[in-house]
Amino acid sequence: MNLDIFNDKTTWLFDLDNTLYPEKSGVFEQIDERMKIYISQKLKISKEKAFDLQKLFYKKYGTTLSGLIKHYDVDPEEFLEFVHDINFDNLKKSNKLKENLQLLPGKCIVYTNGDSDYASKILESLGIKTIFTDIFDIRKADYIPKPTKISFDMLLKKYSIIPERTVFFDDLEKNLVYAFQKGITTIHISDKKNVKKPYISFRFKTVINALDMIIKSME
Ligand SMILES: [Mg+2]
Repeated sequence: MNLDIFNDKTTWLFDLDNTLYPEKSGVFEQIDERMKIYISQKLKISKEKAFDLQKLFYKKYGTTLSGLIKHYDVDPEEFLEFVHDINFDNLKKSNKLKENLQLLPGKCIVYTNGDSDYASKILESLGIKTIFTDIFDIRKADYIPKPTKISFDMLLKKYSIIPERTVFFDDLEKNLVYAFQKGITTIHISDKKNVKKPYISFRFKTVINALDMIIKSME
């Protein structure tokens, strides 16, 4: 594995959910459940039907919210507030994560389909909020989610990102496709043994593993 390429990187983009914290913390599970309840109440349909719609929209539009806005004119702020009203107790502060993030040269930015209030709570729970220069959230992206090119281009423009000097971490492969096409180094965070796609530069089991390797390669 040639890790020399990390030496000249200056921008580090991080997905939030299931990337900066592990899937097993159950945070996203709670959001998933809240989405189902929201849809069921809002559209006055059964939870089963709500769940089907939730997943259909997620697949078709990148987020459930996008589908709800498009087809049901749902107020995005109402939705975001409702689904992120969850318990953060399972998130643990990690000194290792904090130390490694602090060692990265340049700036760290969160790129999430969630909203910044929610993202801030997560980052605070993990003890890493002060490290990030900004959170590019779904509001800043005009509610247009990853993995669309429109959303990613907005991000590139906003922070004057130089793709060749940028690294992007995400647990969803599809979010990395366009970034790789643009020349960004892509890191897939996953503990599953899938075939590594050509648009994935590296794959690590956890973000801490990834940062450990990167920091070591810079010494
Ligand atoms: Mg994620």
